[in-house]
Amino acid sequence: MPDTADPIPAAVAALVPRLREICGEDGVLTDASRRRVYDSDGITHHREVPGVVVLPTTAEQVAAVVGLCAETGVPFVPRGAGTGLSGGALPHPEGVLLTTSRMRRIVEVDPDNECAVVEPGVTNLDVSRAAAPYGYYYAPDPSSQQVCSVGGNVAENSGGAHCLKYGFTVNHVRGLDVVTPDGALVRLGGKASEAPGHDLIGAFIGSEGTLGVATRITVGLTRLPERTVTLLAAFTSMDAGGRAVGDIIAAGVLPSAIEMMDALAIEAAEAAVACDYPAGAAAVLIVELDGPAAEVEAELAEVTRLCAAAGSFETRTAADADERARIWKGRKSAFAAVGRISPSYIVQDGVVPRTALSEVLRRITELSEESGIRVANVFHAGDGNLHPLVLFDDAEPGAGERAEEVSGAILDLCVEHGGSITGEHGVGVDKACKMPRMYSPDDLATFDLFRRALDPEGIANPYKLLPTPRLCGERPGVRTGVHPLVESGRAEQF
Ligand SMILES: Cc1cc2nc3c(=O)[nH]c(=O)nc-3n(C[C@H](O)[C@H](O)[C@H](O)COP(=O)(O)OP(=O)(O)OC[C@H]3O[C@@H](n4cnc5c(N)ncnc54)[C@H](O)[C@@H]3O)c2cc1C
Repeated sequence: MPDTADPIPAAVAALVPRLREICGEDGVLTDASRRRVYDSDGITHHREVPGVVVLPTTAEQVAAVVGLCAETGVPFVPRGAGTGLSGGALPHPEGVLLTTSRMRRIVEVDPDNECAVVEPGVTNLDVSRAAAPYGYYYAPDPSSQQVCSVGGNVAENSGGAHCLKYGFTVNHVRGLDVVTPDGALVRLGGKASEAPGHDLIGAFIGSEGTLGVATRITVGLTRLPERTVTLLAAFTSMDAGGRAVGDIIAAGVLPSAIEMMDALAIEAAEAAVACDYPAGAAAVLIVELDGPAAEVEAELAEVTRLCAAAGSFETRTAADADERARIWKGRKSAFAAVGRISPSYIVQDGVVPRTALSEVLRRITELSEESGIRVANVFHAGDGNLHPLVLFDDAEPGAGERAEEVSGAILDLCVEHGGSITGEHGVGVDKACKMPRMYSPDDLATFDLFRRALDPEGIANPYKLLPTPRLCGERPGVRTGVHPLVESGRAEQF
């Protein structure tokens, strides 16, 4: 029986023959059941069936598709692997979903210039795999790195556990080929690390598909470290753990990662994966150091001493890769693990300056006590990127609303302390309405002016990133249970 649900809107249907000329028969999906596969990204409570899905294989095809959209005023939404956690790749029901999953060529690995040139659909981890034989890797490491695309990383300015030392995606992109919303294919930067003029690469990175489509990316590669060590330190209070973080940085040591978990997060992780963290810990720190072997040994001694001085009652250093993986296991499974101690939860993503961490964590505890909503804290302590897990029971009347209030109040706290409403998961459609918490109307109007300069008709990923009054009346949603990618073993959730 023909699938009559989710018919293709007339304006999109009119484009289909020309889209087929550009991308070929099998590069255009019109069947409703196939379009439905693309109805959300990692935030599954926002869903829209795309008008049509196109799967181009070359930059020229992308330019032709976008040019057609510009000519007809039909909106388009770029999509990489669809792992985003802010609804950035949520399709437009009357638009074209432009998916880069068939643009997966590693064009070149150039060890002499310490860079690689890749198509946007290449997975993050595949860049590291291609660079490994030359003694290099691609440093940005979101936990979704096995599946997420470099194009998506660029659009989200993705981070990961190791950005404390190595920085976010923006610190590793040297060149971009971009199809702008009028369908022009332009080249920004190249293999050299600096180019004169305005930083258009910087403007494109983190623009969440609103300034066009990246079709080719030149990324810097980082030398594989000679030695990596992982240390676990347990504390009887969050304050003591926070003190250790400050002392490590103040001493001039720059670990590649400093991660922190509170008692509730530890309890959840123990229940799920028996990670064997020290009993009675109110906080644990995971500190990873890498670099030349002699330097790492000296830093390890210093970090161990500083943790003890700040009140750590036990420290462990991984002797080998297995022990290192075991230490990380509790941390990496913490998000999924809270599903065992709470029927529903909201994963927040906010940032505060490192010096405000203790104060903000204390206020989160107070918010939790005042509202009766439990909050587990698992976060990138080194760079102040918080991922509070706001736990509630959706069977309890009003609990969801209170959890959302707590979640929103945590973002307000981040902004009050000079931080941000998002650290690494982007704004998308999920947090667009929260932008006014951080930016004045003038700031937002300025962002919009810039966006309109490149996209006067507003066809590139509309309703994302900047607040749209009509949509800002809607309530944000919540996640229940383990994320499907985590469950399938293809990603770990930080
Ligand atoms: C389990 C899990 C763990 C995660 N861990 C992390 C983490 O540690 N750190 C982190 O930063 N993020 C993390 N994320 C979020 C997500 O993986 C990243 O934001 C990732 O970069 C998204 O890539 P993607 O290819 O899936 O992009 P998509 O979700 O497909 O798209 C994301 C945004 O990019 C735009 N876009 C995609 N491709 C292009 C292109 N070629 N040109 C222009 N715009 C484009 C889309 O329009 C959308 O706005 C995690 C997600 C999951 C599910």
